[in-house]
Amino acid sequence: MKTVIAGGGVAGLYAAWRLASGGRHRPESLVLMHDGSRAALGGRLASLEGVDGSAFNLGAGRISRGQHPRARALIEAMDLETVPFDYRDDLWVIGQARRRRDSLSHQRSPGAGVDARLHDCAPLDWHERAWQLAPQLPGHDTSFVEWISRFVGERHVRTIQHLQGYGILENPELPLSEARRILQQHPETQHGDDWVEPRGGFQAIAHALAARLEALGVEIVDEHRLVSLSRRAGTPGAELVWRAAGRERRLVADRVVLALPPRALSPLAPGLPPEQRRMLDAVSPVPLAKLFVTFDAPWWVDAGFAVGDCVRTDLDLQKVYFRSDGACLVYCDSAAARHWSGLMDADAACPGTLRQALARQLAQVAGVDERLVRIRTVHHRFWPEGVHFWRLGARPEQVHALLLGDPAQGIHICGEAYSPNSGWIEGALESVDALMDRLAAAPVRTPVLADAGR
Ligand SMILES: Cc1cc2nc3c(=O)[nH]c(=O)nc-3n(C[C@H](O)[C@H](O)[C@H](O)COP(=O)(O)OP(=O)(O)OC[C@H]3O[C@@H](n4cnc5c(N)ncnc54)[C@H](O)[C@@H]3O)c2cc1C
Repeated sequence: MKTVIAGGGVAGLYAAWRLASGGRHRPESLVLMHDGSRAALGGRLASLEGVDGSAFNLGAGRISRGQHPRARALIEAMDLETVPFDYRDDLWVIGQARRRRDSLSHQRSPGAGVDARLHDCAPLDWHERAWQLAPQLPGHDTSFVEWISRFVGERHVRTIQHLQGYGILENPELPLSEARRILQQHPETQHGDDWVEPRGGFQAIAHALAARLEALGVEIVDEHRLVSLSRRAGTPGAELVWRAAGRERRLVADRVVLALPPRALSPLAPGLPPEQRRMLDAVSPVPLAKLFVTFDAPWWVDAGFAVGDCVRTDLDLQKVYFRSDGACLVYCDSAAARHWSGLMDADAACPGTLRQALARQLAQVAGVDERLVRIRTVHHRFWPEGVHFWRLGARPEQVHALLLGDPAQGIHICGEAYSPNSGWIEGALESVDALMDRLAAAPVRTPVLADAGR
């Protein structure tokens, strides 16, 4: 049985590894194809070597030991070490006000209303107490904005967004259930959870998986973009058309695993089984941007910031992390991410535009003279489809189950975007594990190998 896996992100690589090492599939009849270079393997796990042995994770940046058991187990299985994700405290710089979490009051009742001024810290009380009411509402069908408007008033949506540091909270299409996941699963809101990153960066996971696959005899084909797919009458699988170096290559597979984001799946939609095709629009992308800024000197220490501080602002910076390697990480989404992406493009023609804008806003956050913020390097990446959220009215578990596909048809969709735990590596891995369970439960069509081994 020939199996083709499309996509070289963590979902595609992990699916290939599970199939090849699980003893149910001949590794040499498995091929993983992706549209990037070998260096880009890993998709949204992209990372660069940082300073002082650190890594600049341009994509995924941290996992929690408590919330992400699959991701943690995968890192261990790849013999990779983890280091703590720098995260110590919360600080808000909004308008002229600067406050730390431990100095905020938690005395107010959410029903008493939220004041938009930072020194009235009711939004935090709201955050901690309002969720007690949230489960009573139909989380998939009510938007977060609608719920907040009903609960504390529409004008507070922006305050809450600034305090939490996620622009997507202002999107009227974001269901309450998704907002709840955003607010309850991140280090900024989950104090005490143990957040880590792999030493050497998240992309090390992809490279380690690729090395294991090649050692098992799985072929990895780079620079091939899947452009169309057509089912074969009466037989599982499909005929696939790939574009590589301006040429088309056709390939027939008995089983196809599409570990691709929605943007790559939509051109393939006409060839998908109808029940899968109908589900593709159930999620929306969230643009994300990350900028790692290094300096001639850690100017921010004198300005009162410490390693691990995470500052949330109402500026375009949105969120700044001060790191132990002396760099600052700017991490933003939605409108703020688009703002920086515009400057990233402009910088090609006009070097310095991005640096000037960063220096100006960082100085503003720290309350120091802009001339003190002497930027050495900026490593940045804009992701138009950084992560995905479930649209209003969608039923994640049902859609996910349908997209995983029927083993009798042999076309399977997995990965972050359609996982009920979307937005996380854990979601991508959960989706692959669910697919493996489904394939394992299906009647075996090929001889089972004793042990393909690791
Ligand atoms: C900025 C950012 C921060 C994040 N932070 C975190 C975090 O802190 N913790 C966390 O757990 N997760 C985080 N995530 C999410 C995490 O990165 C993703 O959940 C995960 O990497 C998705 O893996 P995937 O394999 O599903 O998709 P992808 O990584 O997108 O992989 C898709 C693959 O398909 C390839 N491809 C696309 N189109 C085609 C085509 N037509 N033909 C062939 N190949 C194609 C791509 O090149 C890529 O190799 C973050 C993501 C971003 C962008």
